[in-house]
Amino acid sequence: MAGIYIHIPFCKSKCRYCDFTSYPGKIGLADAYMACVYKEMKLRAAELKDKAFDTVYFGGGTPSVIDPMSIVGCLNMIRAEYDLRKDAEITLELNPGTIDAEKVSVYRRAGINRYSIGLQSANDAILSDLGRIHTSKDFTIACKLLGEVNKSADIMIGLKNQTVRDIFDAIDLAKESGVSHISMYALTPEDGTPMYSDYLNGELPDADEVSEQYEQARKYLSSLGFERYEVSNFSKPGFESRHNLNYWRRGEYIGFGVSASSFMCGRRFTNTSDLDDYIKCIMTNYYPVVDDEKIGEEDARFEMVMLAFRTAEGLSLAKYKNAFGTDFPVDFFEPLKKNVRYLSCDNGRVRIKDEYLYVQNQILMDFLH
Ligand code: SF4
Repeated sequence: MAGIYIHIPFCKSKCRYCDFTSYPGKIGLADAYMACVYKEMKLRAAELKDKAFDTVYFGGGTPSVIDPMSIVGCLNMIRAEYDLRKDAEITLELNPGTIDAEKVSVYRRAGINRYSIGLQSANDAILSDLGRIHTSKDFTIACKLLGEVNKSADIMIGLKNQTVRDIFDAIDLAKESGVSHISMYALTPEDGTPMYSDYLNGELPDADEVSEQYEQARKYLSSLGFERYEVSNFSKPGFESRHNLNYWRRGEYIGFGVSASSFMCGRRFTNTSDLDDYIKCIMTNYYPVVDDEKIGEEDARFEMVMLAFRTAEGLSLAKYKNAFGTDFPVDFFEPLKKNVRYLSCDNGRVRIKDEYLYVQNQILMDFLH
């Protein structure tokens, strides 16, 4: 089974930390852009006719900022041109400051059955400092509008003036609002964003402090029944994101829209992140791909290990052998020997021990030949 990703690169305004492909000043291009996304889907359909898809993910940017009928149009196109399974997980990323009852009703009729909501913090002063357009109350209202449906909340840690209590408050607010999945990410101060000045000024917590925040939040989430299934993702049992699990299991996916990435038939390819170039390419019947790489076997082995080690389920030894015809303990003998105290192995799976999952990058470096 494979996934479909659609990138909607429009936002009401730019958050101070944002390094994603989003164009706050270009929302007027949304209709033309979506027409190009439909066309890109149509262009790709023939070569993907033998693939079955069981997840669709609208990410951004802010998918909830555009006309909801454009989301309906995308799903109609997908259902018409692709083999989308009846029980597909269909997720829409949503900013609490951008929805109303009418939009929710259109989403529901279109078959959206999962929402990923950008809460980030329950502290309005922190939300304002991040440049978010919503308050914590807007989040509560959005969740009420959405009602009884599979909801996820994004929460950030490592923020300026953020206490562990603030993080617990965000978790509490998400839980009280009926959320069954929480993605918890540490702020990455990206060069070129306004937030980077705060980092240079020493106003952000250091790596040890963030690591401590993460650990306390992880324990708190666990006490509330949100179990970690990937380093940044926590859910109630059965509410793991199928779309993202597919990424970590090295499953195939196709991405549409500006900056969207794909992994199909052993190739990884990425669309241009320039909106004008994207539109021009599609209008002239060219794929807007700027990077296209066939993944060699060596890289494929490392990818499988690296992705699986992000997850609590870890790497299946049988799956590895089935994919490459060789044994993981033989292929990675040296790094395994060096890191044996950080790993556990049972039921045919190798995983990073719970207490080391957050610092996995240092471990993974040894597996990179
Ligand atoms: S809403 Fe998301 S994509 Fe848009 S500016 Fe803020 S962080 Fe970036």
